[in-house]
Amino acid sequence: MKVECVALGPFETNCYLVIDDTGKRCVVVDAPAGAGTHVLAEIRERGLVLEALFLTHGHWDHMSDAADFALPGVAVYAHKDDHVCYDTPERFKTWYQMIVPDLTDDDFRPVKVTRWVEQGSTLEVLDRVFEVRHVPGHCPGNILFYCASEKIAFTGDTLFAGSVGRSDLPGGNWPMLLKSIRNQIYTLPDDTILFPGHGPETTVGAEKLANPYARPE
Ligand SMILES: [Zn+2]
Ligand SMILES: [Zn+2]
Repeated sequence: MKVECVALGPFETNCYLVIDDTGKRCVVVDAPAGAGTHVLAEIRERGLVLEALFLTHGHWDHMSDAADFALPGVAVYAHKDDHVCYDTPERFKTWYQMIVPDLTDDDFRPVKVTRWVEQGSTLEVLDRVFEVRHVPGHCPGNILFYCASEKIAFTGDTLFAGSVGRSDLPGGNWPMLLKSIRNQIYTLPDDTILFPGHGPETTVGAEKLANPYARPE
């Protein structure tokens, strides 16, 4: 399996294109502004079949273009604790417009989630099994998608290389975030590659050793 990453939108949010071993099928993780044009065009140019869209959480910078990927036959996976963000993103428009003034109504489009997943859900995509782990604290509905056979996990805005996600946004909670990191991320094998919502990839082992904000217990 191959993981490609492109950072898009005003918050440089990572959009991952995960391609199977045959080079024919793919999954997209998160859909920042611009993904609906750039990444979808890439998928079409390369003749890839899109199997699913994984949404790590409902913040606008991760779901802005999600509707573009919610095509017939494409499964859209997300956690219901962020359903307000997916169903009615326009509720958060004013807040984002304060930071990015040129955003318009058209930038806030809902997405139809086809399956709400939760802690322990398993997904079979690209002939691999992905385990869902619920990692709230940055926001209520943050989940990670873990593929044990590939030793990879897509973690959203929980943990970054040398840092952690914000817990001061609505629905955020620092003790809960720390607990999520310790119980759901630091319990993965040390050589698991973590693909976060922003910035470079890292590993469980590297963060356990040196992350200054989230020390293991
Ligand atoms: Zn976020
Ligand atoms: Zn983010």
